Amino acid sequence: MNIILAKQILKHQFGFDSFRMNQQQAIETVLQEKDCVVLMPTGGGKSLCYQIPALMLDGLAVVISPLISLMKDQVDALKSNGVNAAFLNSTQSAAQQGEVFRAIAGNKLKLLYVAPERLMQTGDQFIDYLKQLNVSLFAIDEAHCISSWGHDFRPEYMHLAKLKVHFPNTPVIALTATADKLVRQDIMEKLELNNPALFISSFNRPNIFYSVEAKRNSYSQLLNYLSKHRNDSGIIYCLSRNSVENLAEDLKQDGFNALPYHAGLERTIREKHQELFLKDEAKIIVATIAFGMGIDKSNVRFVVHMDLPKNIESYYQETGRAGRDGLQSEAVLFFSWGDVIKMKKFAEVENNETQTKIMLKKLNQMGEFGDLKTCRRKYLLNYFSEETKDICGSCDNCNTKYERFDATIIAQKALSAVKRLEQRWGTNYVIDFLRGSKSEKIRGEHKEIKTYGVGADISKDNWFDYIKDLIAQGYLKQTDGQYPVLTLTEKSEAVLRGVEKVELIKVKIKEEKKASLVSEEVQDYFRDLFSNLKSIRKYIAANENLAAFIIFSDATLIEMSSYLPLSLDEMKKISGVSDTKAEKYGNAFLKEIKGYCEINQLESRIHLKVQKRERKSRPKKNSKGNDTYSISLNMFKSGTSIAEIAESRGLAKSTIETHLVRFIESGEIKLEQIVPSEKIEPIKKAIRKLKPGFSTAPVKEFLGDDYSYGEIRAVMVSMSKE
Ligand code: ADP
Ligand code: ZN
Repeated sequence: MNIILAKQILKHQFGFDSFRMNQQQAIETVLQEKDCVVLMPTGGGKSLCYQIPALMLDGLAVVISPLISLMKDQVDALKSNGVNAAFLNSTQSAAQQGEVFRAIAGNKLKLLYVAPERLMQTGDQFIDYLKQLNVSLFAIDEAHCISSWGHDFRPEYMHLAKLKVHFPNTPVIALTATADKLVRQDIMEKLELNNPALFISSFNRPNIFYSVEAKRNSYSQLLNYLSKHRNDSGIIYCLSRNSVENLAEDLKQDGFNALPYHAGLERTIREKHQELFLKDEAKIIVATIAFGMGIDKSNVRFVVHMDLPKNIESYYQETGRAGRDGLQSEAVLFFSWGDVIKMKKFAEVENNETQTKIMLKKLNQMGEFGDLKTCRRKYLLNYFSEETKDICGSCDNCNTKYERFDATIIAQKALSAVKRLEQRWGTNYVIDFLRGSKSEKIRGEHKEIKTYGVGADISKDNWFDYIKDLIAQGYLKQTDGQYPVLTLTEKSEAVLRGVEKVELIKVKIKEEKKASLVSEEVQDYFRDLFSNLKSIRKYIAANENLAAFIIFSDATLIEMSSYLPLSLDEMKKISGVSDTKAEKYGNAFLKEIKGYCEINQLESRIHLKVQKRERKSRPKKNSKGNDTYSISLNMFKSGTSIAEIAESRGLAKSTIETHLVRFIESGEIKLEQIVPSEKIEPIKKAIRKLKPGFSTAPVKEFLGDDYSYGEIRAVMVSMSKE
């Protein structure tokens, strides 16, 4: 019975169809007023495990959470779904706090978020206050902070042991996204939980593609990566505040919309940068690890580590901030063993040898991960005591085929360069020498040597791989110490004399990446509609001063752009559309979808969502695919008018206009070519006056029949380009 009600709440209050992982079991346990520990990866959905019981039980649920920024987002998200929640923390004025206390006194709140230090404030004052209330449950977020075996021990969490003493009969649910066996044990013992149930979900994040690149010239490696992800939102982690600021500045100079974030920045600046990032107004945030805990931005498409994280837990947690919406995302680490050495001084825990040892071991495991030749996902999952198959198919190592080829001549070039340079130079210098670098760093006399420049046809990156391979096969050696140089070995001579053949690993062959969590049907969505819906979301978010993803996640908008709901009832079938949100925002999005369907002569495809489970084949994309756009473009370019194209293709004029609008965006057509010049200014005026976001309907309504949707859309597109 209980669980039926829980499912109704899941659907109507939160907009989801089914529980994920162990959500249902955890909810049932709390409803039976028993304690439990929930381990679920970031983005798995831990919050619902206590939020749904909080709504079902009498009284007030108290959520203990270590970070203030987390609280505000969680509370905003709850409110957007019509749940009464609030938080108490030091950022609030006395008046704001007073308001919260009044709401509690008036039994208006279902959830209250507080920091652990608050709970233990001035003796047991706050505890005594809670005792007079009817506390339905305690939820302890980031519960691993209680364990000194963990990577993020927080002494203030130790006080939480008192909870069970003061509230022996109130259920406690402890939640974390990172805990190996020792930490789990610690959570149960330190919190003095009463025979707790333990729910462990898989830590696998199937939609994250893990890859590691050898760290060489990491800035140009990064630029190369970012240039392929221009429209994506991402986090770039650096070790120091200095490098954060420099990198953010450099990226800005190179035309990327990047902002810095670290604890040394003024609070107002920090908060502003975080907010711009959350609202999608800045695509990239460059940050120290001070950024992130509690950042619940669902459409982070990549997380890049410029420097090595301290341990696997941190790496997993930081990369876990990518792809919380279930869409394909990437984690990229720039790795060198030099970083492992550099990080050692940070592993030191003052006056605590045991703790230092634990940290050093964890650092070494991070190094192991960087150097791994086998599946990265497997390593991560095994680290968290989870078994898995050997090949995931969605990490760099699983997607790389190594092929060997006869590279005797390449090897001879490399070895003779090392020999001619008298075995006194490092890899970088040898490669620059081989490639005939004009740089002043190359000594004048070296430029006279015959070998200088013989390897100019091979890229620097490939040379690095080849030399690494030659070292691995024992044809070259690298000395230890701070400035390692390349030297010959006993195996070198035979190669130089041409009596031994050498095979090297050929440039890697990357295979297609694995699909994301979003079902195949949904991948077949209308991208231009999606981008319009995102604009509407941005507009609403700015108006309500909320982060964009709190309105709807990308995954939700993608579903809308795929299933094309045309009524509020259909809208509610989309995952992530709760009753409250449908009521509040549904119409704004519906209008856009309706307009889009009208222009493109599409119908709702919501029935595909309902039948999803039974169907095997992908739905055929409506006949209006990419090709049809190009046909219209080509006809138009060859001088055929819109009316003539429509006539000869048997399509509506408005349809042809939509086709062509796409090419205004790309710059292939000028606005004046499809909108009569006397109409442009009135349309612009109307847009400025109505501020319709990206919805054409209100403008059309305003201007009347003399103006077509296509003309309005064309002007909008060109205005947004300006
Ligand atoms: P965690 O705290 O475990 O990192 P959250 O509780 O913040 O994760 O949830 C992550 C995202 O998943 C949120 O956007 C949430 O709305 C969504 N979510 C949670 N449970 C479900 C579910 N059963 N079905 C679909 N989406 C869900
Ligand atoms: Zn793998």
